[in-house]
Amino acid sequence: IVRMRKLNKHFGSLHVLKNIDLEVMPGEVVVIIGASGSGKSTLIRCINGLEEFQDGHIMVDGKDLLPHGKGAKALQRIRTEVGMVFQQFNLFPHLSVRDNVTLAPLKVRGVTAAQAGESAERLLDRVGIRDQADKYPSQLSGGQQQRVALARALAMEPRLMLFDEPTSALDPEMIGEVLDAMRELAREGMTMIIVTHEMGFAREVADRVIYVHKGEIAEEATPERIFDSPQDERTRGFLARVL
Ligand code: ATP
Ligand code: MG
Repeated sequence: IVRMRKLNKHFGSLHVLKNIDLEVMPGEVVVIIGASGSGKSTLIRCINGLEEFQDGHIMVDGKDLLPHGKGAKALQRIRTEVGMVFQQFNLFPHLSVRDNVTLAPLKVRGVTAAQAGESAERLLDRVGIRDQADKYPSQLSGGQQQRVALARALAMEPRLMLFDEPTSALDPEMIGEVLDAMRELAREGMTMIIVTHEMGFAREVADRVIYVHKGEIAEEATPERIFDSPQDERTRGFLARVL
């Protein structure tokens, strides 16, 4: 569903992504790990066009993203098919939980209010916060807000979900509930690309783990292989520091 070829991205003189080749199959769960500043966020933000790149090619669900933001038509369609959950929940503070979830489908998908409402109830139930639908984001815990963000992304019926450190801003006791919701989603067969520092979670849900080092894919393998017998010196060094 994603094919990235020789992707290169610079921020000014900083070469942030170097010749990245990445392929993700439907239903696959890919976890990206790596040190701070290695380019993980930039990499996944390229997939839904939040970042432009200078060189290379990305195909998302059959639609092409080209260097320098070319392919704007494709980008619009990609954005409706790719959901994203960020470290900061980015909810609309002036909208209720329910309205946060129904807004995009109403605007973009052209569904009726009744359909959107029904689907929101179902999604909120799925992430375990149906009873919070009439509250505002500021009245929820971090873990609850992040589950609203997840429900909101799922309301667009995405073909692919991107996660950028979805639990990094949460208090420890709330991390589990968000990881549980993601685990469930993975079990249901959603295609997911996840940047996380939760190595236990990565080992458990990932089909494949990618270690990014200074803008390059240094190693890519099953979680067992990455965590138990990393082949690359740089992966070993990183894991020694974080595990
Ligand atoms: P972290 O684990 O801290 O989130 P990361 O792996 O996600 O790190 P990126 O955010 O992708 O790293 O950043 C990669 C590099 O690009 C870093 O050196 C960062 O300073 C730089 N960078 C990121 N965004 C910008 C920007 N908008 N302008 C200039 N440089 C940027
Ligand atoms: Mg990041």
